Amino acid sequence: MAGDALDDRVRRKLVTSLYAQPASLAIGALCGSAAAGVVAWYSGNLLAIIGAITLTAVAVLRVATASRLGPESARRDAKHLELLYEAGAFTYAFLVGLIAAITIGYRLDPGLQLLMVSYAIAYGTSVSARNAGRPIIAIGQLFLSLSPVIVVCAFTGGLVYAIIAITTSLLLPSMVSITFNVFDVLRESVAAAETSQRMADKMRDLARTDVVTGLSNRAGLNHEMVEKLMTMRDDQKLALFWLDLDKFKEVNDTLGHPVGDRVLSEVARRLRETAPEGATVSRFGGDEFIVVCEVASRGDCEKLAGSLLEEISRPYRIDGERLEIATSMGIALMPDDGADLDTVMQSADLALYHAKVNGRNQTSFFDASMTRDLMRRKEIEAELRAALQRDELSIFFQPIVDLDTGRIRTFEALVRWFHPEKGELRPDEFIPVAEETGVIITLGNWITAQAAKACAQWPEDVTIAVNLSPVQIKAPGSALGILNALKEAGLHPSRLELEVTESLFLDDNANTARFIEKLASEGVKFALDDFGTGYSSLGYINKYPFKKIKVDRSFVSGPDVGRKSDAIIRAVAEMGSRLEMDIVAEGLETIEQVRAVREAGCTLGQGYYFSRAVPDYLAATLLAQERAKDPPIRLAAG
Ligand code: C2E
Ligand code: CA
Ligand code: CA
Repeated sequence: MAGDALDDRVRRKLVTSLYAQPASLAIGALCGSAAAGVVAWYSGNLLAIIGAITLTAVAVLRVATASRLGPESARRDAKHLELLYEAGAFTYAFLVGLIAAITIGYRLDPGLQLLMVSYAIAYGTSVSARNAGRPIIAIGQLFLSLSPVIVVCAFTGGLVYAIIAITTSLLLPSMVSITFNVFDVLRESVAAAETSQRMADKMRDLARTDVVTGLSNRAGLNHEMVEKLMTMRDDQKLALFWLDLDKFKEVNDTLGHPVGDRVLSEVARRLRETAPEGATVSRFGGDEFIVVCEVASRGDCEKLAGSLLEEISRPYRIDGERLEIATSMGIALMPDDGADLDTVMQSADLALYHAKVNGRNQTSFFDASMTRDLMRRKEIEAELRAALQRDELSIFFQPIVDLDTGRIRTFEALVRWFHPEKGELRPDEFIPVAEETGVIITLGNWITAQAAKACAQWPEDVTIAVNLSPVQIKAPGSALGILNALKEAGLHPSRLELEVTESLFLDDNANTARFIEKLASEGVKFALDDFGTGYSSLGYINKYPFKKIKVDRSFVSGPDVGRKSDAIIRAVAEMGSRLEMDIVAEGLETIEQVRAVREAGCTLGQGYYFSRAVPDYLAATLLAQERAKDPPIRLAAG
């Protein structure tokens, strides 16, 4: 089948090659008519006159059809073209041969014989090369134009005519073989060109397709979007749904990539089925999908978003395993949220980002405030980089106190930003931006170095706690960076505590484990920060060598504090004492809170009751004061 199709296309190409140069056809025809006209004019022979007129008529018709059909009408059925051409060519060739035969048969003037016979031979031989694209036509024309001459010469008698008959006959087989040779070369080159064109088409399609799901990929999406925009009606809107599977990495990590790939294929299938006809569904790398389609209104768009989300949230069954996958979705409309492709994509991306920040498994429509947020983040990012250089940042230290002795055991390093115009900026405002943009890596290294330097000035038994963001830990060389900072400050690793939150373990991987193991083996301690706000999984506590758990301040102060939170603190403290871990109560602001957590079993406390975060010289003063009094202040238990 494929072979036939190829043959047909090759044949069509070759046929159109026949029409490729109507000019050469016209020149040939002009020469033929001129020669035949001269013969008719000078001889006055009736047959020659009729022949010349018919030949001219056929020639005119052929040139006219050739220029009208031409190669550009190749979509016309090749067979039809061929028949037309054959009929014309054969008639013309035969007329040429016939007029030449007449000049000999009627013994016309030898000059006229020479003129017409040489024209017939020239025509027959040249045409068999010109029309080699269709050997039947070429050889037919060759025979039709030469055989009348051969026959007449053979029957006329005399040595000269006999030799003309013989030499002209000998021309036939050699011209036939030349025709076939040319035909083969033509056919092969056309077929080769065809094949390489098809390969190129196939490569292009492959480059636009995602292998795993068969959907179009980024390149394919771009291509299809451009096409869609060209045909879109003015009263329609283009809706762009940007989907991101939540925690898909976990599926890959726990069940393996083959299962991950099957989930992706299944998601792709569901999206294709749910999306309306004519929609573009594409996989935009990793676990992100984009659906683009025309909608009449925002309401339509919301409805469609609902059904897309519903469809992909249905549980997946793969190899008997039941999987539930949540999805975040950002939606933007064109032209409402962006007049061009890039802008709508950006808007949908921003909306998706908001959906994810708002706790995943959400749908969010783009709105203008998102751009303002982004601007503010961008501004903070740029200023943060400059702030690092301009010394606008500093580290403050907040004591963590032994609830038994009242002595400072540790200082937690907390970063402060004194902005020349905006005043003091809270870490909650800029740390997330630093994390998103990666600035946290430079910033974090700087904080660790500063904190280590400060701690190196304190008495041996006082340690420093530094908050570490997951992004920092995942950066290559993070463990070595910290060890270097310690070495430079001359601080023993056992005096550093790194505070990490449970978010670090959300995508628990070998890197995290290696980081913790490497530093722990050097003596660095780890504390689990903000315990109780996240998953509070005991699994992490078991897996990693935590020396400290910091119970989040929402359990100590604030509106939700009550019997329940008290019970939780007790349970955590109980666990801590059995596992020989310190339990720190954060956010202690009053003496009552201090007593309560101490009574509940917490060993350490931190909060405004003891001290706010203070600059390094004040931290040193606190330590000096404390050590001047001996014995240290006792927290009276009553
Ligand atoms: P965190 O690690 O939980 O730090 C404790 C936060 O609670 C600090 O806020 C501290 O000032 C505040 N705090 C301490 N005692 C009390 C109290 O009695 N009452 C109340 N209401 N708050 C108290 P801060 O300094 O604004 O830091 C906020 C968060 O920013 C930190 O929470 C930490 O997650 C992050 N952060 C601060 N400095 C750094 C840093 O150097 N690196 C990284 N990665 N994150 C940092
Ligand atoms: Ca902390
Ligand atoms: Ca905390």
